[in-house]
Amino acid sequence: MRRQIVAGNWKMNKTYPEALALVNELATDLQNNPVSNVEVIVAPPFPYLAALSDKKGDAIQLSAQNCHQKDSGAFTGEVSATMLASVGCEYVILGHSERRQYFQEDSMLLEQKLKAALAAGLKPIFCCGESLEQREQEIHFDFVAQQLKDGLFHLSNEEFDKVIIAYEPIWAIGTGRTASSEQAQEMHEFIREQVSRAYDAEAALKTPILYGGSCNAQNAKELFACKDVDGGLIGGAALKSADFLTIIRSF
Ligand code: PGA
Repeated sequence: MRRQIVAGNWKMNKTYPEALALVNELATDLQNNPVSNVEVIVAPPFPYLAALSDKKGDAIQLSAQNCHQKDSGAFTGEVSATMLASVGCEYVILGHSERRQYFQEDSMLLEQKLKAALAAGLKPIFCCGESLEQREQEIHFDFVAQQLKDGLFHLSNEEFDKVIIAYEPIWAIGTGRTASSEQAQEMHEFIREQVSRAYDAEAALKTPILYGGSCNAQNAKELFACKDVDGGLIGGAALKSADFLTIIRSF
């Protein structure tokens, strides 16, 4: 069976005391009621990562929300993958639509970031997904296939083995309008097919593909029941421990 994963993308939310409180609530609950079938990941803002890596406990893994493509040097304000690994980070989210849209991250840059992350020993959570306009024009499959081809499929088999894919339709992110389970399943199956073509059937079977976009405590069960949906990348609903814990227990 494939790994089942629930990852919380906190984006630019929470003060440090709030972040500590949330991680404490999650860690305590997961310690009292362990979930053996789900990997739990949280992606807090950069300044909290080092401290949270000491405080999060064994049931939670840590992800960054971004990294720079260079390892070190004169890049004021940036954070490298090596730095993230050195504070106990295991994952990094790359290719999120907010990074693509607001920070002009394109496939060429993402290719470099993926390489940097993997070289530092981080496992990438690679995001893809179409806009509403693209879905309405019925070019969403082509668009996602192209994003995967340009941004991700340059990796070697060994490198690709470390990757988690997150399908996040832009029209569903933070809008309260989630993809239906049919829409999610259809795209996840399509993505798995692309992986099979680019690598092989085994890689396609093994790769976790998460759904993201207004996934919450109410709809997670239905989404996670889809054959090719292996969990979720959760934004808004990851900011409250009760909601996030319900999602974690939705398999
Ligand atoms: P959302 O965000 O759950 O708030 O829609 C998901 C994401 O952007 O990862």
